[in-house]
Amino acid sequence: MIAPRVAALAAVAAFLAACQTVPGGGRSQLLLVDDDLLAREAGAAFAQLPRARDDAQLARVRAVARKVVAAARTCPVYGDPDLPPPERWEVVLIDDPTPNAFAMPGGRIGVHRGMLPLLPTEGDLATVLSHEVAHVACRHGAERVSHSLVAALGAVAVDQAMADKPSARRQEVLAAYGAVATLGVLLPYSRGHEEEADRIGLAYMAHAGYDPAAAVAFWRRFAASKQQGGAPEFLSTHPSDATRIRNLEAMLPEARAIRDRATPQRASTPPTGASR
Ligand SMILES: [Zn+2]
Repeated sequence: MIAPRVAALAAVAAFLAACQTVPGGGRSQLLLVDDDLLAREAGAAFAQLPRARDDAQLARVRAVARKVVAAARTCPVYGDPDLPPPERWEVVLIDDPTPNAFAMPGGRIGVHRGMLPLLPTEGDLATVLSHEVAHVACRHGAERVSHSLVAALGAVAVDQAMADKPSARRQEVLAAYGAVATLGVLLPYSRGHEEEADRIGLAYMAHAGYDPAAAVAFWRRFAASKQQGGAPEFLSTHPSDATRIRNLEAMLPEARAIRDRATPQRASTPPTGASR
């Protein structure tokens, strides 16, 4: 979805190199691009996606998205106050029959109409939206692009190092680097990113007041629907069902503690103007 404009990004990278930690402070990450750049790159593509017309479903998705985003900004330990406030997020239904959903830096969420039959309850919606918003809070898109940039910048160094080698061999090595750089942008999130988004997404949905056990139920049901031949695309970008469900179950106590701390009466929308 994000065009691999590696040459332009490489120039930017020299100015933006930064190290950051993911929400919760567990892991530091190398970020060579920032989310503003990704938001601009991805925003144009987002605007081109065909919208599905279903006002009732759209209202339902937007209501849950607002709660999830508000929780993602204020969640203890894992919250990211730099996320845009809920009212600034653009939430749309995409006219696409494949079961998929995504969130982008800059505050954009898309849910394919093919995903809706798999999301009959609010808990199901909260599970998927929290997971996708967690990818954004963790800057996974920027990290993925950064890794592909390292590969691209590495190619320059390799080319110089091989300046005295036969041209054919040089082309072979560069082609290998190029493949890595491209895949870094086009491939789905890594397994590590998925597990991180599962853990942090579970915290977000719990802080929003949803029962985190709904996430386990959702993924179980989703796994069953895959075995019946449905839901290939969304699932294929995610870890194995058994691993995911086992990990989520292990995270339930922490998520329940977060939900117990969240007061049911708290405002679902934080004050505006507190962040970008
Ligand atoms: Zn994911």
